[in-house]
Amino acid sequence: MDCAEVQRLGESLAPYCDPGIRAVLAELLKAKSPLTARQIAERSGVGAVEEALSRLSGVVRVAGTSYGTVARSTGDTRFYVKLSCPFCGSQDLEREELVEHTGCGYVGRLSDFRAKDGSLRCPRCGSPVDGPSLRSIGFWYECNGCRQTFPRPNISLIGADSGSEVSPEQLEPVKEVSYALSEEAAPAVRELLGLLGRLEGVASSRGYAVSWRFRLTGKSGVLHEFCMGLDGGGSRVLVDLVICGDPPRVLRSVTKAFDASAELPVILLIAPEVEDAALRVLMSAAITGLRARIITSGDPSDLPALLERALADGFPSPSAGREAQGHQAGPSRGRAPGRGELGYKPPPAIGAA
Ligand SMILES: [Zn+2]
Ligand SMILES: [Zn+2]
Repeated sequence: MDCAEVQRLGESLAPYCDPGIRAVLAELLKAKSPLTARQIAERSGVGAVEEALSRLSGVVRVAGTSYGTVARSTGDTRFYVKLSCPFCGSQDLEREELVEHTGCGYVGRLSDFRAKDGSLRCPRCGSPVDGPSLRSIGFWYECNGCRQTFPRPNISLIGADSGSEVSPEQLEPVKEVSYALSEEAAPAVRELLGLLGRLEGVASSRGYAVSWRFRLTGKSGVLHEFCMGLDGGGSRVLVDLVICGDPPRVLRSVTKAFDASAELPVILLIAPEVEDAALRVLMSAAITGLRARIITSGDPSDLPALLERALADGFPSPSAGREAQGHQAGPSRGRAPGRGELGYKPPPAIGAA
């Protein structure tokens, strides 16, 4: 994974933890040509596509704007035209053109000029005529039902999908913007979606259900969001991800993991390796506070296997974790149930305690 490419995906990768955002991106990755918001919604099953797209500026670009028409009553956006006689309603009409032969001044139907052999000849003077010697005077329609002639037939619109007649007053103009992935962002989007999919696969294979973008109030009272909340076997584990993060971002994620680990065990996955010396010192503190486990790898593609191992290893019991971090045990520090947005459940240890 190329960090310069990943950094194009935005300051934070948190939006990509949203399954709706990923579904939208997956459709844009698959599409050979730009898609409208409506097409993305139909294909991805995501309702709030515009909202998702608005959070992906820089990754998704506006590829063009098209103007169309919709009949709200039938839902049609494409229409056929039906011509009919204004007198009897018949659709059995013929269109005729009235022309003048400029050579002799004869005026008649264009069809009268057509000889049996297909050539054009003036019916009055008999001379051959061509385009420039014929002057168009106008058009009219003739009804084969009632033989009436008229300059304009009735025009009605038939919805191509519904087959119903639509009156022009029912038509509304629509402007549709089409979207495409920016070429520079596409490779990193593909890799990130693949990585998140593999992390989810690891969690599922170990019997965890994944809640994406899991929110939880930390020990400090600050509301945090984690990429994944894993629920399985009566326990809950938070998983967060920093790919190609700069030191300030890694620092924020590490402190977030420490703060939340008072409530629930946290696995923080970081790639590539952290070079910053002060950060490495801070991260090594997580070794003693075992309920925040920080896992780093030079290669992001190793993270799913590392997550699997961490889930298999499990965490010490909540009291052991708090004592290890020197926190006060007991219910006095705002550990009331329901502080996590999805409800707080005391997390029993996974595996051997
Ligand atoms: Zn008619
Ligand atoms: Zn003539």
